[in-house]
Order: sequence, then C-alpha cells, then structure tokens
Amino acid sequence: CGIVGYVGPRSAQDTVIDGLRRLEYRGYDSAGVAVVADGVLSVEKRAGKLANLEKVLGETPMPVAEVGIGHTRWATHGPPNDVNAHPHTGGARRVALVHNGIIENFLELRARVEADDHELLSETDTEIVAHLVELQVQSGVDLTTAMQRVCQQLDGAFTLVAVDAAEPGRVVAARRNSPLVVGLGEGENFLGSDVAAFIEFTREALELGQDQVVSMTRDEVVVTDFRGRVVEPRRFHVDWDL
Ligand code: GLU
Repeated sequence: CGIVGYVGPRSAQDTVIDGLRRLEYRGYDSAGVAVVADGVLSVEKRAGKLANLEKVLGETPMPVAEVGIGHTRWATHGPPNDVNAHPHTGGARRVALVHNGIIENFLELRARVEADDHELLSETDTEIVAHLVELQVQSGVDLTTAMQRVCQQLDGAFTLVAVDAAEPGRVVAARRNSPLVVGLGEGENFLGSDVAAFIEFTREALELGQDQVVSMTRDEVVVTDFRGRVVEPRRFHVDWDL
C-alpha cells in the first residue's frame, strides 16, 4: 500500500517511519521497516497501526543505518498478522523486500522455489520475490541485476523495493502497473509510492516509467529497463503544499 526507501546520512529508521506516517492516509493493516547497518540486516514489522511498530522501535531501536525501507500493508494474500507484514526476507535473511500490488504467478514461482527446499514463512504473494532476489545475489550478481532479472519473471502489478546486507548503501526498486517516485536530495535520496513519502525533505523528483528499475546510493540514481538498458526518467518539481 505505502512504500518508502531512504539512503543518506539521516537516521534511516526515523526517516522511513516519517515517510510511512505521511502515507497513512492511504489506509493499511500492518507496517514494517528494514535497515542495513554495518552489513547486517534488521527487520521489524507488526500488524495494526504504525503506532504498534513505533512502540516496539521505541523500546528497541534499530541500529543506526544509512539505508532503510518501509511498508504499510493492505493485505491481498494472507490475513493481516506480524508474519505476513512486510518487509519479507530471503531464507538467508540477506535480502529484505517490500511490495505493493499483486504477483499473479506467485503460486507457480513458489512451487519452483519450494522444490529447492526453501521454506516460506508467510502466506503472501510477496515473500517468494524476496527469495528469488536473494537467490540471484547469492549466485553472484549485484542487487540491481538481481532485481532486473526477477522482474522479468513476474506477472501482475508491483512496486518493489529491496536492500541487500552485502551491498550496504544501496536501495533498488522496480515498478509495473503500480507507482514509484524518487526524491532527489543532496547526498541522500528517497523512494516513495507517492511524493508524500519525502516531500518534507525534497521537492525534486523522478517518476519511474512502466517496467523500470531504479538503483540508488547517496550520490547516484540510475534508472534502467528490466533488461538493464539505461533510460531517462521524467524529472519534475513538486510545487503543491501539504
Ligand atoms: N499483495 C501483497 C500482500 O498481500 C501486498 C499488498 C499491498 O499492496 O500492501 O502482502
């Protein structure tokens, strides 16, 4: 439902939670956040209001991190509970991923991965995508290539955002039939399912086109199609007030 991504010098946890709060108006049933700090992935997610997640984070804050992703879920596959909440991880808990939309062919993809002895913990159509991306990075490709390759296998509607513990400092996202915008900062960059996610920090934005992937660090934003060819996204200035 709502998606946020961040890379930069601010607290990743706080910046992501801020963004999720600004997306609360969309309605949701669960919320979660993942950060990568010193090459280690941390994930916290809860059914219910963002306040439930914030309470847990207030008691046990996540490590200080330069990248973070977050999600507010509107369940389509599997009831709203802590396990089905996003982010989802691969089996090795190396990749974390959030998703808006529906993966139409997830049963077929799941059968393939389960045949390889991968255990899935949730009832979502999303978790399989985290596993597929993680399998790609484990085979030796970078997170950006992994996302491009996995998107080629997916049917349906999706905005996906992922981090890889082995590639700290980078956030990768993709979209098909579901919106994704990038917020361009100075030495920091943002992602959102809409500009409300980052408007308090920057008004310079990129709109991703259909079937595109964005790979971003603090200082660089590269947009490609699913085959890895660099494309020029539409740049715009957000001039409305909240
Ligand atoms: N289909 C996914 C799920 O049920 C994502 C739903 C959403 O867009 O929030 O978990």
